[in-house]
Amino acid sequence: MKAIRLLGKDNIQIQEIPVPEISDDEMLIKVKAASICGTDVRMFRNGYTGVSEEHPLTLGHEFAGDIEKIGKNVRNYHVGQKVSVAPNFGCGTCNQCVSGRTHLCKDLHAFGVTMDGGFAEYVRIPAAAIAQGNVSPLDKEISYQAAALVEPLSCVYNGQLLLHAEKGSDVLVIGMGPIGIMHIMVAKVFGAGKIFVNDLDHDRLMKAKELFPDVTVIEGDVMEGLRANGVEGVDVCIIAAPAGAAQTASLNYMNMNGKILFFGGLPKDRENISINSNLIHYRQLTIQGCTKQSISEYRLCAKLVNDGRIPLEKILSDTYTAEQFFEAMDNAAKAKGLKHVITF
Ligand SMILES: [Zn+2]
Ligand SMILES: [Zn+2]
Repeated sequence: MKAIRLLGKDNIQIQEIPVPEISDDEMLIKVKAASICGTDVRMFRNGYTGVSEEHPLTLGHEFAGDIEKIGKNVRNYHVGQKVSVAPNFGCGTCNQCVSGRTHLCKDLHAFGVTMDGGFAEYVRIPAAAIAQGNVSPLDKEISYQAAALVEPLSCVYNGQLLLHAEKGSDVLVIGMGPIGIMHIMVAKVFGAGKIFVNDLDHDRLMKAKELFPDVTVIEGDVMEGLRANGVEGVDVCIIAAPAGAAQTASLNYMNMNGKILFFGGLPKDRENISINSNLIHYRQLTIQGCTKQSISEYRLCAKLVNDGRIPLEKILSDTYTAEQFFEAMDNAAKAKGLKHVITF
């Protein structure tokens, strides 16, 4: 089968490798669509711990397909079933795992990161991932491409769920990449009031406005932009860009009791930022972090997409064959378009 494999820094190859064997407790999924994420781009540029020419890794943690084969001990699934797969699973027994937060397990496994993932024609699903519910059934109608995007969507959902924002909250989303666009979609599900969007890139802002005409675009100085639109601040600010300066500045945009979401990490050499502690204190602000998603959040997002409540197709920029992978990777790395999906 074809597999897109990382062999080290700046070294990805499209290889022909054997289809994985499965045990009686495992399943084999025939991948139909897998999307490229910023994580894939970073792993390509920087390499990844434990990955080398001797130990290659099939990338891809956002994927959907059909069940091709099932071990005889696996219940509740059937061959031919359309599914998407949540990438993260834990040990199953630590306090985080038993609380349903398998994604926060210290012994975390992840398709396409710590084990072979979805940029291949077939992927083996280990028993632990099946037992923890990582394989999520899909409706017939949903496209495989949209189903692959349930993964990043559920990361976004996890972040906003943690905020506990009240309905009608005015929301500012900074960063209009695919994640920022998904934050708009999820903010609507959570009952946002006004939604403001900001980015340094004019074209990205125009794209957001085209997709969601009801959002208010703010270009240039954010505070001036908010005032020009009749508000003195927002209740929720989501920073969906790897920009420490935006995180620092966000405190100034907040209403009393405001909630800030730091979505996504900063580059390692710029991870320390300054924060105005008095703004947090006197405005009673909350700064929330988030990472990955629980299985229940993944399942709920799959349902929202299945039910047509979240129009994920809107962020699909292009589909590519496995042979066109490098073109797709290049577009993702240059932030051209929104989401790029490989189909098998
Ligand atoms: Zn991702
Ligand atoms: Zn655990």
